[in-house]
Amino acid sequence: VEEINNVTPEYVRSFEFDSKLMPSTWIVVRIDGCHFHRFSEIHEFVKPNDDRALNLMNLCAVAVLEKFWEDIVFAYGVSDEYSFILKKATNLYQRRANTIISAIVSFFTSTYVMRWKNFFPQSELKYPPSFDGRAVCYPSTEILRDYLSWRQVDCHINNQYNSCFWKLVASGKSKREAQNSLKGAQLQKKIEELAIDYNNLPVMYRQGSSVYRDKVDIALIHQENGEFPENYGKVIVGHIDIIGPTFWLEHPNILD
Ligand code: ATP
Ligand code: ATP
Ligand code: MG
Ligand code: MG
Ligand code: MG
Repeated sequence: VEEINNVTPEYVRSFEFDSKLMPSTWIVVRIDGCHFHRFSEIHEFVKPNDDRALNLMNLCAVAVLEKFWEDIVFAYGVSDEYSFILKKATNLYQRRANTIISAIVSFFTSTYVMRWKNFFPQSELKYPPSFDGRAVCYPSTEILRDYLSWRQVDCHINNQYNSCFWKLVASGKSKREAQNSLKGAQLQKKIEELAIDYNNLPVMYRQGSSVYRDKVDIALIHQENGEFPENYGKVIVGHIDIIGPTFWLEHPNILD
């Protein structure tokens, strides 16, 4: 082994630590846009919900599921965030946290930039967007379901709040006034007061987006190696209730 000024590669490497994610647990990688409050203003997102931006996020999530098709079984997204669920048995990058998070977040981000013009043909990308990422292990399917429920409840509450906020702004209130009048308010009551037809808002705004494979034919998976097998199951985007049991009962192979 080559030495430079008596420094061996082994010595320098001895400072590196690979944090491994706990074996046999669900891994959730959640990514979130950095300063998207500003990013969405500079790029003139429609408030409170810009369809183009949401559809671009969804396309990036589909691309992530196709690239990591052996490991990622489900994803849930809302606003500028996405949660990717890696199956319990995954051995992706030997479960090294840093590698898993950075590979997902950089692939998602470069896809976002590459596909920007498809969703915003009239509006130039003014600076490079970035996302942060974190990984959390969940030891049981029950707790993983609780995690997903928490994200969907958050989607609902934020969407109620934002619907009221932007309705108040549209009615001539300043952002500060709108914020003050919603402080501690019961959102359900506010929605009625402001005559917002909440239940008829697009389901994507109310439920967020879920990304998964339609049907997985286990018998066909083993016929091919490496590349995403065509018959593995098309990746689809749905806007559905993932808190109740129905979806999971109808798709028993996702979290099996
Ligand atoms: P941080 O870097 O801490 O995540 P942030 O500014 O990204 O800060 P978030 O809490 O992640 O804050 O909120 C994201 C913000 O991005 C939302 O509050 C909203 O203003 C904006 N945003 C994201 N997606 C959309 C969309 N599809 N339509 C309109 N606005 C959006
Ligand atoms: P991994 O995903 O494990 O990192 P890798 O294919 O990226 O696999 P590396 O050990 O990171 O392997 O090596 C990067 C490779 O990329 C080099 O071996 C070289 O073939 C190629 N490469 C990178 N930069 C250049 C460059 N500037 N000019 C020519 N080839 C390059
Ligand atoms: Mg953040
Ligand atoms: Mg953000
Ligand atoms: Mg966010």
